[in-house]
Amino acid sequence: MNLRFRRGGAVALAATAIVALPAVAVAADGHHDNTSAARQAIKGGKARNVILLIGDGMGDSEITIARNYQVGANGRLAMDKLPLTGAYTTYAVQKDAPAKPDYVTDSAASGTGWATGHKTYNGAISVLPNEKPVPTILELAKQAGFRTGNVTTAELQDATPAVLGSHVVSRNCKGPASMGDCAVNDKVNGGRGSIAEQMVTSGTDVMLGGGKQYFDQTVKAGKYKGLTVLQQAQVSDYQIITDAAGLSSANAKKPILGTFAPGNMDLEWVGPTPTRTGTAPAKCAVNTARPAAQPHLADMADKAIKVLDKQTRYSRKGFFLQIEGASIDKQDHAANPCGQIGETVAFDAAVKRVLQYQKSHPDTLVVVTADHGHTSQIVESPTMGYTATLITADDADMTISYATADISASQQHTGTQVRIAAGGPQAANVLGVTNQTDLFFTMGRATGVK
Ligand SMILES: [Zn+2]
Repeated sequence: MNLRFRRGGAVALAATAIVALPAVAVAADGHHDNTSAARQAIKGGKARNVILLIGDGMGDSEITIARNYQVGANGRLAMDKLPLTGAYTTYAVQKDAPAKPDYVTDSAASGTGWATGHKTYNGAISVLPNEKPVPTILELAKQAGFRTGNVTTAELQDATPAVLGSHVVSRNCKGPASMGDCAVNDKVNGGRGSIAEQMVTSGTDVMLGGGKQYFDQTVKAGKYKGLTVLQQAQVSDYQIITDAAGLSSANAKKPILGTFAPGNMDLEWVGPTPTRTGTAPAKCAVNTARPAAQPHLADMADKAIKVLDKQTRYSRKGFFLQIEGASIDKQDHAANPCGQIGETVAFDAAVKRVLQYQKSHPDTLVVVTADHGHTSQIVESPTMGYTATLITADDADMTISYATADISASQQHTGTQVRIAAGGPQAANVLGVTNQTDLFFTMGRATGVK
């Protein structure tokens, strides 16, 4: 399907997006004066809810590429409309010399940073460089009486969701049969078990994403020995759902584990593969191979918000919810411009849904950020790297270059600072240049948990 129709829809969507911004005054010189809007956007105090949206690998260039393509260079995505914006550094540290930075982080180390407030080594899932576990914002919020949710388009055992609900020495230890790099965490050795097992015992109220293959592995020791992790979840009172119909019929009475694909969920869009000499200008297309039974990220975000809102309607504390657009990163690795843009646009639809909720629930802190930068760049013409040219919403050609690896290998993360934008109580703490570990303390101050 040609995306001109979709693009038109998205332009209308951007124009009508509901934003918690006060009216911007127009100064005598005809340009906007943002002074009073910024002043009004600064709110201290406690938040009832915190919603954190992570665009994995969504550096400034990934945002700009998606904006140009979808709404044009002068258009604005939903994520562009948060009232307060800053930048944060993302570096990891060296495992054997933790005083020294590792300038290019992965999602595990960066996620451990924003989830726990501690820098760690690449591959670590909420453990310190000495491999000791540290509590996460989700665990602390739950202990303090908040409801919790964790939503992703990746496997639920992938680094970003995993850092909230598990502690292992390597991100590879996704299921009980995949513990080769984590002997110390293996249940057989008295550890807490794999990421999949720990995610279930975390008691998170709503978990939605992929990764069914690891939930289908068999627990090797302890109380649930012989059951699959999915059966463990079932006897632990989870509603298990595996498709979009199950997602819409799931209720707020019991915790929900939705696992919608064996691995990562399928891509929204497809398009040209970059080459050394570039491509003819082309448009992206909807991925018709995506199973209709897989919900989209905005559907999962919507359900998580509805369930958590219902569960907290009569309680003093609200909820903490993380929503990840995971395959922005994965398609940047794959040098797939339309794959990457389609995931960024789907993530932005989830941001729009969250901002609608915030409009009627202004005591919600909303943060939109990334965990690290990535390889894609907008360039003038074919480069030393691999390029593809797309026709944007401006009806102009945009050439995108991937140049951190050969096309047959995985493109690499970059060590740049990334955008962090926020609105609601404590949002002013994202202003200026901070560190991804500071986000833990911003969310902690908003919820009153430490
Ligand atoms: Zn990555």
